[in-house]
Amino acid sequence: MRHEYSLQLWDITKSFDSVSVVRDLNLSLMPGKITCLLGPSGCGKSTTLRIAAGLEKQDKGKVFIDGKLISSATSAHMPPENRSVGFMFQDFALFPHLTVKGNIEFGLTSKQSLVAKTQASKALLRKINLEGYQDKYPHMLSGGEQQRVALARAIAAAPKVMLMDEPFSGLDKRLRDEIREQSLQLMKEEGTAVLLVTHEPEEAMRMADNIALMRKGRIVQQGAPYNIYNKPIDSKSAAFFSDINMLTSRVKNGRTETPFGPFITPGFSEGSEVEIIIRPQHLKIDFDRNGKGPNPTVQDGVPARGVVCSSRFLGKESIIELRMETDGSRLRTSIPGVFLPELGTPLWLSMRRDRCFVFLKNHEP
Ligand code: ADP
Ligand code: MG
Repeated sequence: MRHEYSLQLWDITKSFDSVSVVRDLNLSLMPGKITCLLGPSGCGKSTTLRIAAGLEKQDKGKVFIDGKLISSATSAHMPPENRSVGFMFQDFALFPHLTVKGNIEFGLTSKQSLVAKTQASKALLRKINLEGYQDKYPHMLSGGEQQRVALARAIAAAPKVMLMDEPFSGLDKRLRDEIREQSLQLMKEEGTAVLLVTHEPEEAMRMADNIALMRKGRIVQQGAPYNIYNKPIDSKSAAFFSDINMLTSRVKNGRTETPFGPFITPGFSEGSEVEIIIRPQHLKIDFDRNGKGPNPTVQDGVPARGVVCSSRFLGKESIIELRMETDGSRLRTSIPGVFLPELGTPLWLSMRRDRCFVFLKNHEP
């Protein structure tokens, strides 16, 4: 029977030359679920994945696969080939001297008979839509086809855990979307737990059941994409997923003043500096109000007027930057691409208060 978790990392810590790269990291993966380890370059994602794989040993902490302890500071360190994990990396090249069939069979266990291997590799080729390709060599395949063969090789041994380090980043966008969708769907169906490392928030939002957001060696926040996008723990976490606007202000009598009227900010001590964060799509140009002046509402507060100082058409949307009259601050709004106001146009903006995040300034978790 399968354990509740396919892979567990417990309190993993790792340093290189006394520089700590992964710190007190905890992560659990469930069968058939995709977990994205997301964070900027250099934050320790690949190191974490290599520790899970057994390619690197942690200084502290434990690794469990399917409930069994396979590596700790005091126990033996199980080598990668015995862990029931598959790997896929961006530059995980196929063996150039082996055919497609030869490459896939390399992933199969040596205990299987020749006939069983041939059948298994045929079934895998069908799954990745490359039927009839068994005798071709890697140089005869396109980049996308090679990546699919690499995937077949990685899943041939039916690993409990698949570790993928930016495996799709070498492919161009259309191909990437297709191959990514197909590969991850296949692994979900097989009940494989997937750890997908990426630095692209769009990829994580699109593919993950669970996102673990990493910063400087730590996981700072974990959750479903919807929750992590809508409930960031701080302004950096909010900014990782989209452009943001930030209004800073001081708490006075339990409120903070903004160009959009006062915000009630309970829970923040008097005099503390707070950041009010709003994503551009939640600032709205208030066309009805043009020429009429402010008219506060409960949801959007007081509208504020600004002058267009930059206006960019991106097709699906336009990004408009306004210099606000109240304090000269610049705020960005994104609106459907049909509208592109000229520089210098005065416009009213209102703010979706229910979409604002309020944090103590310079808060670090
Ligand atoms: P990411 O995958 O998030 O970009 P990495 O885990 O590759 O980050 O690297 C995290 C940090 O650890 C980087 O500063 C990197 O230079 C350092 N690092 C990674 N591997 C080694 C190593 N074998 N020796 C020394 N430093 C390393
Ligand atoms: Mg990396």
